[in-house]
Amino acid sequence: MIGRRRFLASLFATPLSAAAQAAGSRTPRDLKITDVKVVVSNPGKSSLGNYVLVKIVTNQPGLFGWGDCTCSGSELAVAKFLDEHMKPGMLGRNPMRLEDLWQTLFFLPYYRSGSVHMSAISGIDMALWDIKGKVAGLPVYELLGGRARLKLLTYTSTGGRDNHDVEEGVRRLMARGYKVVKAQVSMPGAEGGYAVPPTERQREAMQQAYEGGVAPTEVWDPEPYVRTVAGLFAHLRKTVGDNIGLLHDAHERVRANQAVQLAKAVEPFNLFYLEDPLRPEHMDTIRQIRQQSATPIAMGEIFVGPWEGLQLVTNHLIDYVRHDLVHCGGITTGRKVAANCEPYGILTAWHGPGNISPVAHMANAHVSLSVPNFGIQEYSVGWPEAIHEVFSATPKFDAGYIDIEDKPGLGIEVSETAASKYPYLRRLRPLIRQSDDSAWPY
Ligand code: MG
Repeated sequence: MIGRRRFLASLFATPLSAAAQAAGSRTPRDLKITDVKVVVSNPGKSSLGNYVLVKIVTNQPGLFGWGDCTCSGSELAVAKFLDEHMKPGMLGRNPMRLEDLWQTLFFLPYYRSGSVHMSAISGIDMALWDIKGKVAGLPVYELLGGRARLKLLTYTSTGGRDNHDVEEGVRRLMARGYKVVKAQVSMPGAEGGYAVPPTERQREAMQQAYEGGVAPTEVWDPEPYVRTVAGLFAHLRKTVGDNIGLLHDAHERVRANQAVQLAKAVEPFNLFYLEDPLRPEHMDTIRQIRQQSATPIAMGEIFVGPWEGLQLVTNHLIDYVRHDLVHCGGITTGRKVAANCEPYGILTAWHGPGNISPVAHMANAHVSLSVPNFGIQEYSVGWPEAIHEVFSATPKFDAGYIDIEDKPGLGIEVSETAASKYPYLRRLRPLIRQSDDSAWPY
């Protein structure tokens, strides 16, 4: 075991210590970006997609930063975009001019924004904050104002084929210490559902699809789903009680009016929040949800850029903002969005699934620790072993909360040697089809 730990430590031996030793060899004003490297890797062979990581190298020996540009479903598009279109705008520039670089790269392609461009900027932003923290010898959260709290309330998901399955999952997570759990259930008689573990048949079909180079398919019908959800929470409140935060993710999979129905139907069960009840295209309907239900609403995991969702904030139409820091513009955008929310009493709940890398989870933690209006941080424990081989750190879970170690920068390094052992695997997003074989959003 000690040998294994030493081996893992050796993979990350150089960066921080070298950066610290070299500190002072150049003033921050003399720093220049000398290289931008892109690493695409799938440690753990996840069906959720590959990680796209960016390493920004400087002219100070040993000083570099890591960021996460992962955009599940468009990984190679982001990697190519970084290399071909972002890198030339960065070489020779001072990495300390973070805000200026963010703006420069945003305006660089005339046709700007969108998930590919914003994922690229997000990872670059994280890497620049990592560099800035290493230069200062401080964790990034110190540069953002310091700890506004000592640990972060967290939640994770459980899903099952029926209410009893979900109840067991909730109990398992409560036993691990979770104070808040997201609960998802299949439609009656259906094989799967959003955040419900696939059956063996589904797993095999998915594998066959990957091998055939086509996208796997899943069946989803919104109407029976909407009829099912309130019953799940009635069951859970009756069986696991009121001493647990429960939330639910509609994942933008319902029609606009069904979202209103859903928010009203679950109101008696006091959800922590209802997540993403509306598609971005249907956002006007959110006023009806507010007028007809007191269920707290969280929105925004597929918003790109700092401005998407701004009117939901300034009109106080949501209770939690949940941009994904890997798609909205990184740490810089996260702190700006949080600042916009603060006067409205809207709290943060940054998107934190397994298909963004531990680098992004560390970035989430730095922003969450430092903003006054933090609400909750999505985070799942139990990374595959390959993740620990590639990444030097992950947030630490303890009794329903997470925290990170006090290290300069983001406090995480990436072993390029280990990452190269887990090359790109094409993992197409599933096609969601209704029972009549019509298209539906994921
Ligand atoms: Mg979600």
